[in-house]
Amino acid sequence: MNTDRIKRLDKLFDAFSVIAEGNYVYVCDMREDLSRWSQNAVDYFDLPDVYIFDAGSVWEECIHPDDRKVYRESIEKIFKGEDLGHDMQYRALAGDGNYVICTCRGVVITDDDGIPEYFAGSIRNHGSLSYIDTITGLRSLYGFFDDIKTMIRKKSSSAVIMIGTKGFSSVNDVYGYSFGNKVLINLSAAIVEKFSNIGTVYRLDGTKFAVISSSMDTDMLADIYHSLQEYVSHDLYIDGERVSISLNAGLIAADDFEIGHETLYSCLKYAYYESKDRHLGELVIFEDSLSGDDRHFIEQINTIRSSIVNDCEGFYLCYQPIINAASGTLRGAEALIRWRNDRYGSVSPVRFIPILEQDILFPELGKWIMRQAMTECRKLLHKYPDFRLNINISYAQLEKRDFIYDVFSIIRETGYPKENLCFEMTERCRLLDKSILRNTFDVFRQHKIKIAIDDFGTGFASIGVLRDFKVDTVKIDREYVKNITTSVADQNTVSFISSLADAFSADVCVEGVEDESIRDCLVKYKIKGLQGYYYSKPVVIGDFCDRYL
Ligand code: C2E
Ligand code: CA
Ligand code: CA
Repeated sequence: MNTDRIKRLDKLFDAFSVIAEGNYVYVCDMREDLSRWSQNAVDYFDLPDVYIFDAGSVWEECIHPDDRKVYRESIEKIFKGEDLGHDMQYRALAGDGNYVICTCRGVVITDDDGIPEYFAGSIRNHGSLSYIDTITGLRSLYGFFDDIKTMIRKKSSSAVIMIGTKGFSSVNDVYGYSFGNKVLINLSAAIVEKFSNIGTVYRLDGTKFAVISSSMDTDMLADIYHSLQEYVSHDLYIDGERVSISLNAGLIAADDFEIGHETLYSCLKYAYYESKDRHLGELVIFEDSLSGDDRHFIEQINTIRSSIVNDCEGFYLCYQPIINAASGTLRGAEALIRWRNDRYGSVSPVRFIPILEQDILFPELGKWIMRQAMTECRKLLHKYPDFRLNINISYAQLEKRDFIYDVFSIIRETGYPKENLCFEMTERCRLLDKSILRNTFDVFRQHKIKIAIDDFGTGFASIGVLRDFKVDTVKIDREYVKNITTSVADQNTVSFISSLADAFSADVCVEGVEDESIRDCLVKYKIKGLQGYYYSKPVVIGDFCDRYL
């Protein structure tokens, strides 16, 4: 071939081949179909040489089979003169046998007559921390976060949907991991098919997907989700096997742009877990899932969330006494979180705790609660050496690896005695890995820290919890107590739970004792602790001490 042309190609190439790590460049002389590639690309992708004839085909061999078609079509158009460049993402096989995500941008340089002469560009290697999920080829969690941030910045109203599976782990257990991957690929294709007209589909962590939809028509989105559910429950076959998984989904309509993307993500997760835990997989829409129609609720959550970052400014604790049923004297107190600021006044924990539990910041707040409660209650111990401080612990704290470490360092820091502590576990803890839970409870028991099961008899708390973990106290929810003076069913329930607890050597504390008649009714059963407005509403530590010290 014409040596002048090679020289020209080299010159052109040298002009722009000063490149950063993870970036590769190429120039193709389209008349000769000869390309020059940068040495780092040759090394990384194990290419034959820096000079490659028909590089389109050679490079195509490196591209993931699922991404080849789009690539080939693009290259063909470029060579036919129908396209003057491309900007695409694909997976390419590195010399070490792993696929990496690449963005390839190329432009066509035409001659004086407008005939394509050179095709030049760069390939960027995103490595494995990628914006594309290697199994499904969808944009990944990182891509999702980037796009949500852009959406908020540009104030473009969108609906964000999170879709996940139930029963997927047994698919992996029974059929193996590669079958599981096929299920994911099939499912992702089904989601793309249903939603791609109106938005972008993402694969988040695990078996969760998301859609950012430009349409805010929630009825239509719910219809699409239903048809996806139909498909998954009747028509999902892999290698001739019917896969029995089901779906859950949460949706948030984002039209408020005064919030951060983390707040949006926590609210979305909240709606998703409502769907999973309480609505049998029906689509839960964030605002619908909340009682009251406060339009600024998400902004409120955003503000409360920022308070956590601001040294938990605005949060404070109230304490509700727990009374010894036999003697009528003080047995301990439950610490209950409160939040207030000038703009929103005081907001009930029932509103913000379930949402913030989904937030990565929650363990930070959890530590603040423990530190604050142990510091404030130390002064009660002189007069009440057996005083028991109950602190509510959320599953979001328990599932963190360093939870035990944090507990002991706060105990050391505050000097609060471990044996005067009791952790109340909320219902959702049951969903955590049993061995982690058992280990955590064992460590606490060795150190004489007590464990209570909160809201027993409602939601998830069940006999299994008593059988599997040795707990010290069972707390009976107010639900069973408020009508106890007249309801025989409630009397039977309380009687049953207290004998059950007794059989597992746990004592019983009853919540919601609002008046004397309820108290009189309860003392007939084997009950150790009484808690409720009859004794006191939750109050700040100063008022608590005024009363009991
Ligand atoms: P919970 O742990 O079941 O707390 C008991 C709730 O019942 C408290 O509501 C308390 O004020 C209320 N209560 C007590 N006695 C009576 C009564 O006689 N009548 C009536 N009607 N209500 C009574 P609060 O303080 O609004 O807390 C609600 C929930 O928020 C708590 O339920 C708990 O699930 C959560 N929460 C509160 N503080 C914390 C905390 O520090 N950490 C965590 N993780 N959750 C918390
Ligand atoms: Ca509690
Ligand atoms: Ca409770």
